[in-house]
Amino acid sequence: MKKNDMPPKKEFPEGMVPLGNAKFKFACHSGVKCFTHCCRKLELYLYPYDIIRLKNRLVISSEDFLNRYAGVVKGANPCFPALMLTMSDNEGKTCPFLDDNGCSVYEDRPSACRTYPLERAVERSSTGSRPQEFYFMTDHSYCLGHREEKEWTVKEWVRDQSLQYYNQMDDLWAEMDTLFANSRIWRGEGSAGPRQLLAFLACYNIDRFRQYVAEHQLLDQFRLDKSRRKLIDSDDEALLRFSFDWLKFVLAEQPVLQAKR
Ligand code: SF4
Ligand code: SF4
Repeated sequence: MKKNDMPPKKEFPEGMVPLGNAKFKFACHSGVKCFTHCCRKLELYLYPYDIIRLKNRLVISSEDFLNRYAGVVKGANPCFPALMLTMSDNEGKTCPFLDDNGCSVYEDRPSACRTYPLERAVERSSTGSRPQEFYFMTDHSYCLGHREEKEWTVKEWVRDQSLQYYNQMDDLWAEMDTLFANSRIWRGEGSAGPRQLLAFLACYNIDRFRQYVAEHQLLDQFRLDKSRRKLIDSDDEALLRFSFDWLKFVLAEQPVLQAKR
């Protein structure tokens, strides 16, 4: 490769150094003095896939989950609201899923909890080449896990925390969030207009969206593989993927679905 063919070196904000292949030390277990200190007073954003995992874990509907555990907040997107986990109304403002033994939803904990002590950033290029991901080390003085001896590479951490699938679904969501930031797709309706309410339902309230799909016979309106169609009927993740495609199709006229004539 000639020098001029090298991709430009990525610049990061001061103090943020991507870990790359470097090793880091970390361990979190019930023996650390700070055990569960990080599970309180959190500003924890919930993504659509987090909600599916949690509401299925709790065996409640997505509507119930939103009513009991999530608050609508103004996030970074100027045109679309974000959801944040509501802390318990107790003195410690603890996570509602924290109990005496630690995290009561551990296998289905949100992606932010899985990624910690790392943070993940994804850079998408305008040329359509593969997005690049970067991981950074967080630095919270209360977290004594950094003083443990266990060593990890990012790759090992991602595998250990079963993050691959969460990352995949979160990247699909990031695409939607970028689309939602384009004010033109809302056709001047403003926040909480009919298009926004429908997008909110399709992204965050998957059980109600399933009812909407049935009532409007949405699946019959598109050419879908038999296997995909079957999966959507029974699987919330498959329905969420369909909902993202459907929103791209109806809001931005992207040809990601083929309508039946
Ligand atoms: S503060 Fe760090 S080490 Fe302590 S429980 Fe939380 S993640 Fe684990
Ligand atoms: S979901 Fe679990 S790991 Fe995440 S903040 Fe709550 S108790 Fe802690």
